[in-house]
Parts: sequence; structure tokens; C-alpha cells
Amino acid sequence: MSQPEKFKKASRPTPTIEDYLMTMHVMERDFGEIVAARLAELMGVAPATVTMTLRRMGRDKWITGQSRREIHLTETGREAAYSVIRRHMLTEWLLVKIFKLPIFETHDEAHHIEHAISPKLEERMIEILDNPKLCPHGNPFPGHEDLTKDWVPLIEIPVSQEVIIRRIHEFVEDNQDLLGFLGKNRIAPGQKAQVVEILPFNKTLTIEIEGSPVTLGSSTAEHIFVEFPSP
Ligand SMILES: [Zn+2]
Ligand SMILES: [Zn+2]
Repeated sequence: MSQPEKFKKASRPTPTIEDYLMTMHVMERDFGEIVAARLAELMGVAPATVTMTLRRMGRDKWITGQSRREIHLTETGREAAYSVIRRHMLTEWLLVKIFKLPIFETHDEAHHIEHAISPKLEERMIEILDNPKLCPHGNPFPGHEDLTKDWVPLIEIPVSQEVIIRRIHEFVEDNQDLLGFLGKNRIAPGQKAQVVEILPFNKTLTIEIEGSPVTLGSSTAEHIFVEFPSP
């Protein structure tokens, strides 16, 4: 806060590094470790590109241990990751509330905008958007992870159980086709659903939403978190 504006600007990573930091933060937050192979998949780049970028990030002190095994965010790296994920989530809300974009169309748009937001603008966004603690997809702002800890992956829900969808994980957000599918089938935070069929041999789970069945692959159902309706 007390840092002069010039210093802050100079120390902000490039958009590419910011996107890596954001993905690394999500990995650490939810899976406890940063996996280089998974990074390549999520960032949509070749493993060799990831290796090069990790080396650069190690040199610039955003991470430690570029040996591909033990990658950790440094204190500075983590702060930079918090900052960009906050800007990403605030931008998502701006797009939903002000620009009236459907929640599944915000993710890519947010990536274009988030890197350009100054600390001053970020503060204004927090005010205008009433200090949100979850993004429109139900993922937690840094420091509010507790809000999501009681939500259960849809994959663990038994047949006939009614649930309320609460959270679509960031790693689903990175698949545009899947997002289109979820949007079309009204799978979104706050939506009521009921599990109607589970076919483990097929790796599918079918839920009913507003009377219509929707079949999901198990990897998608692992990334959708739900809550039981209060009795
Ligand atoms: Zn981005
Ligand atoms: Zn989101």
C-alpha cells in the first residue's frame, strides 16, 4: 500500500507470467502442489515452453525449484498471484453485472482486461462490486477459501440426492466448449439439480435440471461442487 506507484508498476509480471502465477496458485490452493505437466495442458502450450517459462520465473524469483518436481511460489510470487486472480475475478463480476455477459462467456474476456488494471482501479472495482468473496463461478477470492470448504464434488453424490450447484472450478473455465455446454444446460451456481443416474463403467453421471437430464463426464463432475439443500 505504501509502495510508490512506480515501483509497483515495475514489479508487476508480464501478462503471460501473471497467467502462469494464477494457474499455479489454483493448483496449490486445491491440489497442494504445482505440476509442470498439468501446467502445459492448462496453459495450452508445449512442455518445452513450460520448462523455459519456469526457468525464467525462477530467475526472476517468482518461484523456487524449477526442477519440475518441487515448484513453489515465493512470497513475491504468491502476492503477485493473489493480485492477478483478484483482478481476474473482479473483471468477471464487472462483465456479468455491468456488461450483462453470461457467466460462461466472462473467462476469456477477463483474461484480456485483468492484466491492465491498476491498483487504483482495482480498489474502485472492489468498492463498486461490494467486495465480493467468490467469483461468479463460485471460486474463492484469496483469503476466502473457507467459504467453499463444505461443498462436495458432484461426482461423490449418490443417485436421487437433490443438490444446489455452488461452484464451477477454474480448470473447467479453461475449456471453452465445455463452458458452452454448461451454459446451454443451465449448470451454474445457485441452480438446483438432482442426480438421476451414475454409470461408473461409462464414466458418466446424469443430473436433472429443471426437468431436463444432462449427462456429464466424470472429470467434469469432479470439478463441479455442490451443497445439500437445507431441510
Ligand atoms: Zn489472463
Ligand atoms: Zn470465475
